[in-house]
Amino acid sequence: MPRAKTPFAAGRLWLDFVNTDEAPRHAQPDALVSFDGYLAWLEASGLIDAARRAALQRRAVEQPASASATLHEARRIRSALRPLAERGTQTAERATQAAVLEINRVLGRSTGVRRVAHDPRDGSFHRSFVPSGDAFAALVIPVVESAADTLVTGELARVRRCVAEPSCPRVFLDTSRSGRRRWCDMRSCGNRAKAARHRATSSARRRKSQ
Ligand SMILES: [Zn+2]
Repeated sequence: MPRAKTPFAAGRLWLDFVNTDEAPRHAQPDALVSFDGYLAWLEASGLIDAARRAALQRRAVEQPASASATLHEARRIRSALRPLAERGTQTAERATQAAVLEINRVLGRSTGVRRVAHDPRDGSFHRSFVPSGDAFAALVIPVVESAADTLVTGELARVRRCVAEPSCPRVFLDTSRSGRRRWCDMRSCGNRAKAARHRATSSARRRKSQ
């Protein structure tokens, strides 16, 4: 299994996964609306390559019930992970428990081989997990591993939902030094937040000078 890239804005694979749901203000449809959409997202994230995607697509045609069960499962996991990423103060404990249960359900039934791989491009080493058993069910394991890593490293305190815009549902890992980032992505909400701040300060200045 190749190492995951995070081509999106959230900073962690599982947060990008949570962000695959519909974001109307960003004109983003739900990526998990079909099995093909799920495969497209997995490829965009670097979790599968084009050849593997094509093989999985062929298998989905042969085993449609299994493909739709896999999609259903991915959506179920996503809906357990979103509250974990958002963690409203009231429901924090319950959301965490439900997500941990879901993470353990997936990890508990995953079988495969653990190994250390060497990346000759930069000389680095990383652990990898090569699943055996059901190819469909194994697709979501890296996502769940990523969520488990966030919990284990204590990084969850830096995970939040975008508040630059009330209608923006995106979650992200705040890697800023101050820990005060409030927007999901500079290109969209970050710029809007900056423009709003600018408008607020210049109108305050106008009021003062009047
Ligand atoms: Zn946003």
